Amino acid sequence: KASKQLHPDPSVIEVGNIKIGGGHFAMIGGPCSIEDKDQLEKTAEYVKEAGGNMLRGGAFKPRTSPYSFQGLGKSGLDIMSSVGQKLDMPIVSEVMSIDQIELFKDVDMFQVGARNMQNFDLLKALGKTNKPILLKRGMSATIQEWLMSAEYIMSEGNENVILCERGIRTFETTTRNTQDLSAIAIVKELSHLPIVIDPSHAAGRRDIIESLSLAAIAAGADGLIIETHPDPDHAESDGAQSLYPEQFKQLTEKVWKLHAFM
Ligand code: PEP
Ligand code: MN
Repeated sequence: KASKQLHPDPSVIEVGNIKIGGGHFAMIGGPCSIEDKDQLEKTAEYVKEAGGNMLRGGAFKPRTSPYSFQGLGKSGLDIMSSVGQKLDMPIVSEVMSIDQIELFKDVDMFQVGARNMQNFDLLKALGKTNKPILLKRGMSATIQEWLMSAEYIMSEGNENVILCERGIRTFETTTRNTQDLSAIAIVKELSHLPIVIDPSHAAGRRDIIESLSLAAIAAGADGLIIETHPDPDHAESDGAQSLYPEQFKQLTEKVWKLHAFM
């Protein structure tokens, strides 16, 4: 169902008041984790003003250490839906388990994290909903495995899948992961599904986010998901890769210029 063979035209996925794919571009910005209402509201305000058209933020966080901040849970989602409504921006947040699905009724798009790309029971359960899914690529998953995970969702009836490349593990240590630019071109050859790039988790450092973002657009990406925080130096998670508000503004300006040129 994800294959281009039976469906040659690019899919256009509607997420709240925006469309993604087939020439429609998503510029998604927001913090790694929702920390409190003030933080999310501030972020959403400058993301929107800069030209971002969708808001990200994690409430359930898949942290490497159980002692790290785990997210605000349901109250984080409540903050997010009120901020999204207030600013009229669609919202995306990560769902980690089947029993959390019902808490996401006011969230416009489910995010399946890299660590859950092959949680097949979760994928099947999400396939029974009709909400768009942002399916991240596992950090050690091949493109074929990633597309098969999309099939798990689509085969249950939900065809609103957006692929998200967030960097893969390589031998390189200067970046957290390695952004796989070829994945954009390959996915475009194999599938009709839109592909969004997450340079934040690929890089793990904010200084190269702009280069990676522009390269992704040049390669044909349908959107970007970017971590940004009003005060990255005090962020609860992923501060080192989060853009300062001013950097997000500068990036977004270039993004729309390059997108218009494509
Ligand atoms: C995130 O988006 O904050 C996140 C945890 O991403 P990933 O699943 O790609 O590591
Ligand atoms: Mn993060």
